Amino acid sequence: MKIIRSIDEMTRLTADLKRNNETIGYVPTMGYLHEGHLSLMKKAREENSVVVISVFVNPLQFGPNEDYDSYPRDIERDELLAKTVGVDYLFYPSALDMYPDEMTVEIKVKKRVNVLCGRKRPGHFDGVATVLIKLFSIIQPTNVYFGLKDAQQVAVVSGLIKDFNFPICLCAIETVREEDGLAKSSRNVYLTEEERKEAPYLYQSLLKAKNEIVAGERNPEIITTKMKELLQEFISGSIDYVEIYSYPELEELQVIEGKVIIALAVRFSKVRLIDNIIFEL
Ligand code: AMP
Repeated sequence: MKIIRSIDEMTRLTADLKRNNETIGYVPTMGYLHEGHLSLMKKAREENSVVVISVFVNPLQFGPNEDYDSYPRDIERDELLAKTVGVDYLFYPSALDMYPDEMTVEIKVKKRVNVLCGRKRPGHFDGVATVLIKLFSIIQPTNVYFGLKDAQQVAVVSGLIKDFNFPICLCAIETVREEDGLAKSSRNVYLTEEERKEAPYLYQSLLKAKNEIVAGERNPEIITTKMKELLQEFISGSIDYVEIYSYPELEELQVIEGKVIIALAVRFSKVRLIDNIIFEL
């Protein structure tokens, strides 16, 4: 596996790969890799002749009071883990190289962002869309792999790919969880011991909601109210949101039907966690 730090070098490599008709499987990440990231890379390895990942903590997608500075980083560890799943190239640009000057063009995501994290983190998906347009241009992937853990991101990126006619196929991969159900996340390291014990209730509340819907309850408000009650009973953190929408459109539902997402975000003392489940009725 080769580490590539400069955009120029990555661009030259992309041109070589394209000339050789390689299929490029690409996994964008912010690093501090875990099994969730690795499942995306394994899938990319199965489906492409070359696998490229990027590790870039994108300043544009963090709000002023968010965790950009404290976001966990460990490139040596990432390098070792990426090697174990057969990644060919790890692209590791600096923020200065990615954003040398103030940009001429501003990207604003209009749809699918007025709910969930998009509503709670203004500008977040504008930053995600901006960095992905740059990374897609530099790496020119055949297939790109995203996790459904960030389901709103998948919904926004599929719109981005369509709107800008990127010749890229988006593959959405199921959430990888700890044995107790907690969704794997780089941010889990910031849970206290007590909070770590509580955190599985996030997934528990999602499963309970799904069971009630499958059993016949169709009123979104009744479901989200019950979820909030369960969470408030078992976790010390505060609920940021618990919401149900159509997926991937992320539109409000009077009655739960079709393909839906139940999603939640919870703030613990040092970390905010998200989780969701998506299913079709
Ligand atoms: P991040 O480094 O958090 O930006 O994540 C990079 C990619 O890995 C995104 O597409 C995430 O959705 C995906 N990812 C993160 N956690 C998980 C997980 N537990 N299971 C599956 N994919 C994940």
